[in-house]
Amino acid sequence: MFAFIRRRLFLIRYHSAARPVTKWTRAMEAALVGSLALALPAALLMDRLVSRPVESLQLQGRLMAGEGGLVEAMILDPRVADLRWREGAPLGTFSIDLGSRAHGWPRITSWRHLPPTISIDLFSEPPRQGSLRVAEGEHERIIQAITAAVEGDQPRETLARFRRAEATAEWRPWSMITGALLLWVMIYFAAALLIQLLRFATFYVQERQRARAADFISRGLCPACGYDTRGTEFHARCPECGELVW
Ligand SMILES: [Zn+2]
Repeated sequence: MFAFIRRRLFLIRYHSAARPVTKWTRAMEAALVGSLALALPAALLMDRLVSRPVESLQLQGRLMAGEGGLVEAMILDPRVADLRWREGAPLGTFSIDLGSRAHGWPRITSWRHLPPTISIDLFSEPPRQGSLRVAEGEHERIIQAITAAVEGDQPRETLARFRRAEATAEWRPWSMITGALLLWVMIYFAAALLIQLLRFATFYVQERQRARAADFISRGLCPACGYDTRGTEFHARCPECGELVW
């Protein structure tokens, strides 16, 4: 079986015309190797440059005035559709958002989980936004109350993600490899297309020069500068530019 295939391959090679090596075939080979070398850096660059937001986790809560000027925060269970306000003074509501961004192109090569942000909506004031970490002046007690509520609500698994203070990256190595391979193909095809266009343009320019030179010679002019060489037939070179006329 292998001997048969080998013999077949040999015959194909034997009957194929040897492909001439020109600067164009060398450029194509360089494009193939060069695009492979660029694929992984390109994938990393795309991971940096291209990102889009994906669905975010959200926790809703309520703020109440507690005893002695304290603020109480309570995280609502999303399964409870309608909860009556407890005894006490309602202050407002808050929501904690955990957004994620999907990075990379054409494959998603990493997820970046952003640190939580808190939106505070006090009944007496317009809504405000802040980070869980940054306690901003007058809302410091509110942020502390919300933080305590998040910390205190241990049983809930999702809350673990809300306790993060910094963005974390979650890399997807397999997508990085397949994404780099896709980019390799794309870069190679772009380079190959460019090389073939250049090749065609060069061919076109050369053909035009050749046609012009042939036209000049047929009219008795120097093919390089167009000087009238009629009457100087015994000189091999153009008296104007020194180009070989014959
Ligand atoms: Zn000339």
